[in-house]
Amino acid sequence: MNTHPKHERTLIIVKPDGIQRGLIGEIINRYERVGLKLTALKMMIPTAEMVEKHYTLDPEWRMKTGLKSIKGYTDKGLKPPHADPLKVTEIVLEKLKEYLTSGPVIAMVWQGAHAAEIVRKLIGGTEPRSSDVGTIRGDFVLDSYAMSDSDGRAVRNLVHASGSAKEAEDEIAHWFKKEEIFDYKLLVEQIIYEKDLDGILE
Ligand code: ADP
Ligand code: MG
Repeated sequence: MNTHPKHERTLIIVKPDGIQRGLIGEIINRYERVGLKLTALKMMIPTAEMVEKHYTLDPEWRMKTGLKSIKGYTDKGLKPPHADPLKVTEIVLEKLKEYLTSGPVIAMVWQGAHAAEIVRKLIGGTEPRSSDVGTIRGDFVLDSYAMSDSDGRAVRNLVHASGSAKEAEDEIAHWFKKEEIFDYKLLVEQIIYEKDLDGILE
């Protein structure tokens, strides 16, 4: 197993609203231009079972997501719908199944140094209302916990990305068969990663 950081991989899913909003190219462009390499891509309509399995691969996800949602309320001086984070997530998971099975999604594997961290940085925080300017969720959508909860649906935030390199490996195995992922070189990787830049000058 090669341990150089350039071999790290992460999973991205363009959610149904991302496709409907015409943002497939924009999303791909952001990861391409930073220097990551696309190694797998497919369109599908996931089943509710696939969505539940995807989110619960990480046994900590229920607790982390509940706590993050509650913080999203309390940071704005608002009262969360439940004090119990696991109760919050239980409701979120049901809404997520409706959201992600509502139309086609595009699943992708991107590879490169610190792929999971870089992709999370460019995607922005979970809640578009408070995600940073310049990120995908900050620039192209405006949803909030408060609005999505009162309307009884999942937060629409265009795209999913794995939380860490370890989570990514589990998620990649869940969405892709080995033979759907391509191992190849991009010539530009020499400029991004190689120690010597010999060969530029004539
Ligand atoms: P992220 O996608 O940023 O990793 P999470 O893993 O915590 O976020 O949550 C998964 C998805 O569930 C989010 O992207 C969002 O679509 C939805 N979601 C999270 N929290 C809530 C909530 N409190 N209300 C509605 N939808 C939520
Ligand atoms: Mg997540």
